[in-house]
Amino acid sequence: MFNLIKNMKTKYTGLLIRMDDITECMNWEDMDKCEKLFDKYQIKPLLGVIPMNRDPELLKFPKNVNFWQRVTDWSNKGWEITMHGCNHLYTQKSDKKDIFNYGGNSEFYGLDYFSQLEKIKSGLSQFKDKNINIRSFFAPNHIYDENTLKALKENDIKIIIDGYGLFPFYKRDLLFIPQLFYKEIFLPFGIQSTQLHINYWSNKDFEKFENFIKRHHKKIVNLNYIISIASPNSIQTITNYIVEKTLKFARMFK
Ligand SMILES: [Zn+2]
Repeated sequence: MFNLIKNMKTKYTGLLIRMDDITECMNWEDMDKCEKLFDKYQIKPLLGVIPMNRDPELLKFPKNVNFWQRVTDWSNKGWEITMHGCNHLYTQKSDKKDIFNYGGNSEFYGLDYFSQLEKIKSGLSQFKDKNINIRSFFAPNHIYDENTLKALKENDIKIIIDGYGLFPFYKRDLLFIPQLFYKEIFLPFGIQSTQLHINYWSNKDFEKFENFIKRHHKKIVNLNYIISIASPNSIQTITNYIVEKTLKFARMFK
């Protein structure tokens, strides 16, 4: 019995490294350091690439004219390239009626279905031009509405790196891989993703991340692994439900 629980825990414990805001203009110094670190520990992160960035906050960072070559190289190494919005411009605002009830600025929320479909299609065409396969997505600021999900499915994207929960879960024919914390936190049980914003890192932040990787690299998983073990299961659904309710309750007091 003890061994069974131990095996379950080993199989269902892991962390996916999700990096946000990967685009031509970004903190390339820390990106290069992270790449060396990932290679050293054979980690295959998931990179949220903005295909047509127009966000003025991000345009302030140093530009790399060989950006798409770098993306191609990462993809060839087996890193997961994910689409992170289309232009990362916050033209919309959610009144907390988005699918996770977060509220806040959005690139997609509230736009009609065909406008969202057009955005997703034009973003994807950038990757197609470079022969980079895209099967997953996460939206700027975690904000989605029903039309976003419909437009993604229409384009055969069925994996979303966002949501509440200790385990990946299926909802509306989509696989959601939860993203719970803004910091690198490793939970003793469950499978989630981090959220790394290296554009806002100081020197100390890379050191902290390096130490985190040294301690936990054996428990870092890639997207293929998560897909292989994720299946709709009543215990997981219940656990996710409890986490979702607890977090929503906690947010009421913030
Ligand atoms: Zn972003």
